[in-house]
Amino acid sequence: MNSDELRNKYIEFFVSKGHARITGQSLIPENDPTVLFTTAGMHPLVPYLLGEPHPAGTRLTDYQKCIRTGDIDAVGDPHHLTFFEMLGNWSLGDYFKEDAISMSFEFLTSPKWLGIPVEKLSVTCFAGDDEVPRDEESASVWKRMGIPEDRIFFLGRGDNWWGPAGETGPCGPDTEMFIDTGRDACGDDCRPGCPCGKYFEVWNDVFMQYNKQADGSFVPLERTCVDTGMGIERTVAVLQGKRSVYETEAFTPLISGIERLSGKQYGKDEGDDTSIRIIADHVRTAVFILGDERGVKPSNLGQGYILRRLIRRAVRHGLKLGIDRAFLSELADIVFERYGLPYPELIAAKDFVREELTAEEARFSETLKKGEHEFEKLLPNLKKSKSGVIPGRVAFRLYDTYGFPLEITEELAAEHDLTVDREGFEKSFEKHQELSKKGAEKSFKGGLADHSERTTALHTATHLLHKALRMVLGEH
Ligand code: ATP
Ligand code: MG
Ligand code: MG
Ligand code: MG
Repeated sequence: MNSDELRNKYIEFFVSKGHARITGQSLIPENDPTVLFTTAGMHPLVPYLLGEPHPAGTRLTDYQKCIRTGDIDAVGDPHHLTFFEMLGNWSLGDYFKEDAISMSFEFLTSPKWLGIPVEKLSVTCFAGDDEVPRDEESASVWKRMGIPEDRIFFLGRGDNWWGPAGETGPCGPDTEMFIDTGRDACGDDCRPGCPCGKYFEVWNDVFMQYNKQADGSFVPLERTCVDTGMGIERTVAVLQGKRSVYETEAFTPLISGIERLSGKQYGKDEGDDTSIRIIADHVRTAVFILGDERGVKPSNLGQGYILRRLIRRAVRHGLKLGIDRAFLSELADIVFERYGLPYPELIAAKDFVREELTAEEARFSETLKKGEHEFEKLLPNLKKSKSGVIPGRVAFRLYDTYGFPLEITEELAAEHDLTVDREGFEKSFEKHQELSKKGAEKSFKGGLADHSERTTALHTATHLLHKALRMVLGEH
């Protein structure tokens, strides 16, 4: 089953259970300045989950584009993407745990729907703590469905609790569904949620059961709601017996495209594979941001800043793989091909997406060139200085203005018996951060932290700097 079929089946199943099909919303949340992107299917439905009547009724279903910048550092692992599609069904004061869990079970295991063998299914439920009791109710529904006790795990707040955004408000336990990939357990305490990847989380049913009060107590809600989210890419991987989302058709055409462009082969070298996965993930996300109905351009603020970092990170990994020409718009065409049908807004924005990708790619290579030139200019003076120390503010200027990571400057310095004043660099860095506008700081913290950027850039920019050095030193 591919993602188009899964999307259709899910909607068909929940429509057959009395749900109204609604349309997913933009990736850029409307009237919500607290987050940059829509992170889950429930996101646009928050007002209705909180009590506002929904025009389509009390049972809803849809598929929703999601972006989680907080997962950026996990990109490359088998199941975390920056952009993914989420299927969902909601009860707005309608059914609760019993019906939600039995519908999830039926959709996952019935041969008419996904037909996943029950033996492969494990679930987690909320373990309870001093404030809220253990979620025995969910566990007993799972048991009745035929999940044996040893595959029902009880976990704490970190894993099985959906909390209010603020101090008070609706909250409650959730129950997550995992598929056993068949890999060996990593140890005796290997269980769903374990980072070894034996268990693949595909779906989550959230139960809004309590209202957290200002005094910290949890009062049962009169109108309880259900919010569920199933990841399309992960579920397709499971259904196709694949070990990672990158082995499904959401990514294989992109990976082939990157192989063609770079002359590298996926699956031969771990470092290259990581770069290929990062490019595939980031290009797909960038196309969805640019091609959104409320699409934004690369910039230094908010969503545009995240977009810029994603594009540049993809380009750097392209350089690392030896791709020496503009390539993003070619890969974008593969995304249009694959996703044009479920997301027609992408097709409408095709030219804009292509143009913006190419322009940002050109701007970035210009930046790299300028940095190279700047380094050439600096080196003779640095070499002449008696102290042998490159001042922190100089290293910071290379980092801040030209995007050269401190580690590269240090590496090069060492080759020429110079060192970098690291403390001075940190001081300049802190000073700069204090001066930064609030908005810019916010987007910096949005998951695309400078640390991972620095590490990535280290590999890709090193050869440029070496080239610059050789030119300066006359060692062509
Ligand atoms: P995980 O624990 O694996 O990070 P999660 O518990 O954060 O996932 P939920 O918030 O429950 O995920 O989202 C619902 C579903 O969306 C998940 O069960 C999963 O199938 C999918 N999903 C969540 N995050 C990602 C991601 N970064 N990439 C792809 N799919 C995801
Ligand atoms: Mg997560
Ligand atoms: Mg989880
Ligand atoms: Mg979850």
